Amino acid sequence: MKTVDLHNHTTFSYDGMNTCEEIIENAIKNSISVIGITDHQFSINNIDEYINKINQCKEKYKNKITVKCGIEIGLRPKPDNFVSFNKKGLDYCIFECLDSDNDITMDLFEFLEWTRLFNMPKGLAHTDIFKLSDKYHVNMIKLMKQYDIFWEINTSGNYNYYYDFITSFNKQQLIKKSGLKLSIGSDTHYIRDLNISKIRSVHTLISGLGNPIIFL
Ligand SMILES: [Zn+2]
Repeated sequence: MKTVDLHNHTTFSYDGMNTCEEIIENAIKNSISVIGITDHQFSINNIDEYINKINQCKEKYKNKITVKCGIEIGLRPKPDNFVSFNKKGLDYCIFECLDSDNDITMDLFEFLEWTRLFNMPKGLAHTDIFKLSDKYHVNMIKLMKQYDIFWEINTSGNYNYYYDFITSFNKQQLIKKSGLKLSIGSDTHYIRDLNISKIRSVHTLISGLGNPIIFL
């Protein structure tokens, strides 16, 4: 089975323990087909250097794995330089924690409008979209389709919506019916924590639903 893991941190993130090479080599060892690097925007000092580094890795490992250059943009609060990350050379971006119960979290509608400026695949990372639907009295699945935003299933085990989704037939059917694009991310900060069997079982689940998976 072809597998993606589109959420990984390296030493470009303040909380990443491994280099790009170590993350990629670990992915190869675990037979992952597409690996995405998504360091935190606020801890990357020089974004061009970051993109160059990942491009070098794309070339170095091209016969073994597909490497994608992403970025994770925090929304607590909205970064002052939000649009500066709409940058040539990035293959995709993920926005995190839009469902946070924190007053400083970016407003949903403001967020949706800003994302229109990003001309690359964009997704919501570890965000409970069902909770957001309730909070704003909207149909988040419909909005994400309208704004062409994919939804990340985050297998790190740190977010309850992951367990809700894998155990809720109703939620799975809603996602299936919508045809919403999905991504799968381990959110690895340290290669020893990668749980490949969770990634594989989510791939099996989504393949059964038939929803498209980004970059697969
Ligand atoms: Zn992350």
